[in-house]
Amino acid sequence: MSLIEIDRIQELLPQWLETSRQQCGYGKVASYIPELSNSPIDALGIHIMDAQGQSASAGDTGLSFTMQSISKVFTLILALMDNGENVVFDKVGMEPTGDNFNSMLKLELVQPGIPFNPLINAGAIAISSLIAGSNPAEKSARVLDFLRQLSNNSSLNYDLEVYRSEKDTANLNRSMAYFLKDNGVLQGQVEDVLDVYFRHCSVSVTCADLAQMALVLAHNGKNPLTGEELIPRRYVQIAKTFMITCGMYNASGEFAIQVGLPAKSGVSGGILSMVPGRYGIGLVGPSLNRKGNSIAGVALLEAISQEFDWSLF
Ligand code: GLU
Repeated sequence: MSLIEIDRIQELLPQWLETSRQQCGYGKVASYIPELSNSPIDALGIHIMDAQGQSASAGDTGLSFTMQSISKVFTLILALMDNGENVVFDKVGMEPTGDNFNSMLKLELVQPGIPFNPLINAGAIAISSLIAGSNPAEKSARVLDFLRQLSNNSSLNYDLEVYRSEKDTANLNRSMAYFLKDNGVLQGQVEDVLDVYFRHCSVSVTCADLAQMALVLAHNGKNPLTGEELIPRRYVQIAKTFMITCGMYNASGEFAIQVGLPAKSGVSGGILSMVPGRYGIGLVGPSLNRKGNSIAGVALLEAISQEFDWSLF
């Protein structure tokens, strides 16, 4: 069944992609990290992979882009594998905020210093401090190795220009991190924690890399091609739940209604999504809507999910 469907997806994908691409002109590429403003505004690419390793793809799948917030799903998982649930959820909450990803508003307002969830910036910075390792280089190397393993791509690496560009301009994230440190949420030196965070956000991938990582999540932590368990099922369940409740910034509710799949987006225009038990999906479209999600990417996922009735709900 899956073989037939993936062929059908491949048939329809190029046309849907070109229709969705027309949305690109209505969005903007992120520019608060200066290097990201060089991203091609009209680009759109998608790669869908099934459990047999068959793929359907269309558009600008050769484009490399940085993972940005998509990496937060995997640092959360690694922090859970390193520390267990009690330690992690002592430092970050489990609730969506309804605010922007870089908002400080509720940090002070509701429960002092504890970020609402691990996918907003404050939460992900707290998670970066929980990655095991005796220094920032070792922690970053562990994250990169984990991403290489999940993507089955040993040459995955940082985009150092994006990394430096973010590090040089991250006043807001820096202020948040100092606030967290003051509240006892961060372990270690603030700049060391931020370095781990900036590095994982700057890991450069293609749509196929994201699709392969998503495929592992779609199969509850197992690589379906090798049968190897890479992540305990419980931690995949936690990550997927966060993807549904807060993976698409404060448009997660709308995305759940229109697409109905776990997903995480990043300011580079990347989206990692999946059809649980079946497909891994990697997508890029750097032109962003007002909520910070790929404008054409969301339109494309809506079209595919509705056509194939993929919504989980
Ligand atoms: N590195 C980005 C930041 O901290 C990630 C934001 C995102 O992709 O949502 O601002």
